[in-house]
Amino acid sequence: MATTAEKVKETTAAEEVDLTDGFHLVIDALKLNGIETIYGVPGIPITDLGRLAQGNGMRVISFRHEQNAGNAAAIAGFLTKKPGICLTVSAPGFLNGLTALAHATTNCWPMILISGSSEREVVDLMQGDYEEMDQLAIAKPLCKAAYRVLHAEDIGIGVARAIRAAVSGRPGGVYLDLPAKLFSQVMEAAKGEQSLVKVIDAAPAQIPGPDAVKRAVDVLKGAKKPLIILGKGAAYAQADEEIRKFVEGTGIPFLPMSMAKGLLPDNHPQSAGAARSTALLESDVVVLVGARLNWLLSHGKGKQWGPRGSKKFIQIDIEPKEMDSNVEIAAPLVGDIGSVLGELNKALSGAPKPAADWVKTINDKKEANISKMAAKLGKNSSPMDFHSALGALKQVIKERPDAILVNEGANTLDLARGIIDMYKPRKRLDVGTWGVMGVGMGSAIAAAVETGLPVLAVEGDSAFGFSGMEVETVCRYNLPITIVIFNNNGIYRGVDKDPTGRDPATTVFVPDARYDKMMEAFGGKGYYATTPDELKRMVDEAMDAGKPALINAVIDPAAGSESGNIGNLNPQSVVTKKK
Ligand code: ADP
Ligand code: MG
Repeated sequence: MATTAEKVKETTAAEEVDLTDGFHLVIDALKLNGIETIYGVPGIPITDLGRLAQGNGMRVISFRHEQNAGNAAAIAGFLTKKPGICLTVSAPGFLNGLTALAHATTNCWPMILISGSSEREVVDLMQGDYEEMDQLAIAKPLCKAAYRVLHAEDIGIGVARAIRAAVSGRPGGVYLDLPAKLFSQVMEAAKGEQSLVKVIDAAPAQIPGPDAVKRAVDVLKGAKKPLIILGKGAAYAQADEEIRKFVEGTGIPFLPMSMAKGLLPDNHPQSAGAARSTALLESDVVVLVGARLNWLLSHGKGKQWGPRGSKKFIQIDIEPKEMDSNVEIAAPLVGDIGSVLGELNKALSGAPKPAADWVKTINDKKEANISKMAAKLGKNSSPMDFHSALGALKQVIKERPDAILVNEGANTLDLARGIIDMYKPRKRLDVGTWGVMGVGMGSAIAAAVETGLPVLAVEGDSAFGFSGMEVETVCRYNLPITIVIFNNNGIYRGVDKDPTGRDPATTVFVPDARYDKMMEAFGGKGYYATTPDELKRMVDEAMDAGKPALINAVIDPAAGSESGNIGNLNPQSVVTKKK
């Protein structure tokens, strides 16, 4: 193949033919498919790609670390149903982005990690190139699909395949490997344009068969104590109206999983959120709508769910393999949630409502739990504990239901999930299926960029540490993000001691650290809150201003519990060794 210089010479000789190159073709292919934003970190060999993308009108958000850019792309995929794009350099940058790509895949969100890579010929002979790594091979087991493009004329197909793989069926992460040499390959502009592919109907509707719908209706009509569980697949599907019709039309109590909160408001009369244990234990038919029976639902069995065989499951999911993953599914409904619920709503119209005593059981439990909690939330204590601080933030979101809440941490996550009510779909972004720490700033930045709405990021001090440097990015792009750090001096609690007295304990941080000063270092506004009243006032002020702000909320270091609500997953040694 001719080198760039040779090609340019040839074509110049052939008189003024318009040229394009790999850089421009990648950008044109993305734009042709409605992709307008790139999250990434510049460097060899993709620096000019970012620059040119920006010059061509795309939004290019440069981060300080690829993992945060990747987490931004992942959450952009969840929010928009279009693949979020993360752009990285080769080997180490690629690996940094890969964690987020695996995270997106695990969460069933569409994302494309585009990484530059080193010279194929050198990499494959392992001759020691700059940032040498067989990135395609490494990415493959960690994502839904992985492709490499070697020729400029294949860029259109490569990008189209990546988009379709990311969003069709069960969405997921796709890796697109673009070797350095590709970018400078030159071809005639007209031929380049013809080589681009616009993806038609990228995520086709998947409609369930009538027999599957009838089976589900029969199971549901036989229920005495039905329950609907809404998962983040339901939030992703953007089938909000069909979901509301299904829940309100059937009158069945519903339980939202963490990121499905707000699909219907948490204060909806049918919400069973505050009666979760009772609803899981006592229900006889459970309809899963875009929710997997994984660890987050105790795999659909065990003491939370009552005796084996005491329940029938109806599961709506786009992925056929999800059925029977943990327990028998009596009525599988394979299809996209909008289409499935459309069919189900038609078939169920006029079906009887659930028995009044079941609804009353849920409601009684719910009211008892809510009033028990109210007392803990209302205290204006100093130092704050998690409950009193979250009581203030619960009020903030109630008054600002359009704001997007980002949430990570241990106690900060588990307690906020239960305490802060959500009122609108896709407003709660958190740690997802892996329960991964470090998604906070990436999620907050993408939420602000994609929606233009104000963002409130409620972060444990440890969780924040994984992506804290991105406060510079928040300031640089002047985003309407208010970060609240629940500063309890450590992980779970801030009071552990090294038994030998030599070092700080493994779970503690510098006591009384001033995270607010980090924000001030980059021109944002820092606040220091010691009471719930102060916290509420400062968050209100920051959100009204709509500018980067960070509030260091001082939390009693002794207030947290080990691993938040999932201490059972954290094994503890019971052996005492003799010295
Ligand atoms: P949660 O953790 O909130 O319970 P999960 O991530 O476990 O949610 O489950 C989401 C499920 O939703 C996945 O099994 C995924 O295949 C499914 N899903 C994603 N998008 C759609 C869609 N448009 N229609 C149907 N199912 C979907
Ligand atoms: Mg902490």
